[in-house]
Amino acid sequence: MKNKPQPICGNNPSGRRDFLRKASIGGLSMGLLGKNAEEIISTGFDASRSESSSSSKIRITDLRVAMIGRGLVVRVTTDAGISGYGQIEAVGLKGPGYKPFVLFYKDYLLNEDPTNVERVMMKIRRMGGFKPWGSAVSAIEMALWDIAGKAANLPVYKLLGGKVRDQVRAYASYGEGIRFTVEGTTPQHYRDWAEKIKASGYGFTIIKENLAFQTPMKNDPNFTYRNLTRSARGSREYYYYRGPLKISGYKMLADHVEGMRRGLGDEIDLGLDFGPGFMLSDAIKVAKLLEPYNPIWLEDMLTGDYNPYVLADNYRRLTESTTAPIHTGEQIYLRQNFLELIDRHAVDILGPDPADMGGISELKWVSEHADLYGIQMAPHGTFNGLLGLAAQVQVGATMPENYIAFEYTQANPSWWYDIVEGLPDPIVRDGLIDVWDRPGMGVDFIVSEARKHLSDEDRNFFD
Ligand SMILES: [Mg+2]
Repeated sequence: MKNKPQPICGNNPSGRRDFLRKASIGGLSMGLLGKNAEEIISTGFDASRSESSSSSKIRITDLRVAMIGRGLVVRVTTDAGISGYGQIEAVGLKGPGYKPFVLFYKDYLLNEDPTNVERVMMKIRRMGGFKPWGSAVSAIEMALWDIAGKAANLPVYKLLGGKVRDQVRAYASYGEGIRFTVEGTTPQHYRDWAEKIKASGYGFTIIKENLAFQTPMKNDPNFTYRNLTRSARGSREYYYYRGPLKISGYKMLADHVEGMRRGLGDEIDLGLDFGPGFMLSDAIKVAKLLEPYNPIWLEDMLTGDYNPYVLADNYRRLTESTTAPIHTGEQIYLRQNFLELIDRHAVDILGPDPADMGGISELKWVSEHADLYGIQMAPHGTFNGLLGLAAQVQVGATMPENYIAFEYTQANPSWWYDIVEGLPDPIVRDGLIDVWDRPGMGVDFIVSEARKHLSDEDRNFFD
């Protein structure tokens, strides 16, 4: 059953109850609290209810997972009638076949108090891993925060320390009406491409484009000396492309970036996502080659999506060799695995994905730590869906001043917009999203609508 969230208000009765209960635990008798306390009590505090609520906890009763469109959705249910939701990108290795990896954690969660998010996470965090394994852990963490917020009648950002910004910036990446193909190689083609971006209505001031190993360029015989036999038919394509660059490959890259940069003018920043991956010496040469075009960042030049390692020293050499900001981190699980990148000043910008790194509290921690080292944050999340978008907004509101923008994600398919409530309309204005104040993550299913999109296998998901 759907938990109908209530708007938060300044005089939250449950908040007062918590304060008084804590004051009582701290040794203050009700008599010492005096008249003001009595007045507070008369407006909502019930000592007998407080007594029982302090001894009774919310308990997790179930963990469920369902495919809804292209989103793999995790639901944690409780005996208080509150449910929390999280979402896993349903691309690459993640999809319907990924359900067992989520359900693996069910026995660790049952009967735990979901509002003790960290204590629950200590049980399951150690049982995760680099992308895609950490995705299940991350979605569960988001569902726990969703419950904790709803139980406290507060938006999650309040539980993370409160917001430092009222609007969270997003950057454009994949998406209908967001990213457009450059139809040719003349200056006019690049101007036309840029005009489409500017006319899209989102007002993004940062756009990220794929290049090199993220595009068909990787198969161009003039691009690299890469020489591997393709995977057998019927199996998944070998995903991790690497190869030594040819001189003609450098020219392709420089021409393309120059064209894009000229098309965009000075109004929009351009980030470039390369894959992985270049050989280290090629990456150094490419970064220097592209410096004159002032990219906002160069992403995943050496490692990236689905690489279960970090290679911090290689990144350090690359970063020290160029003024172009070097960016990576979307596949990395847990704060500990960001430590070398941060402590060695091995990158300029980190791009963790809260739906892969272990959740939003991991992102908050990494952001705070990175800020001490002069490293900026541009979190990944292009396929995380609308629940992933909600999580980015909640944590993005609380991140320090090293925050640039998160990677915007769209509903997939578009009917996802019709099965949730709580999103602003339009969601993005001038590249910014207003932080909403609904409890929990603040984006909730309209169950009667969402239920229509469940397969037979998942038909009991919302029951
Ligand atoms: Mg990337």
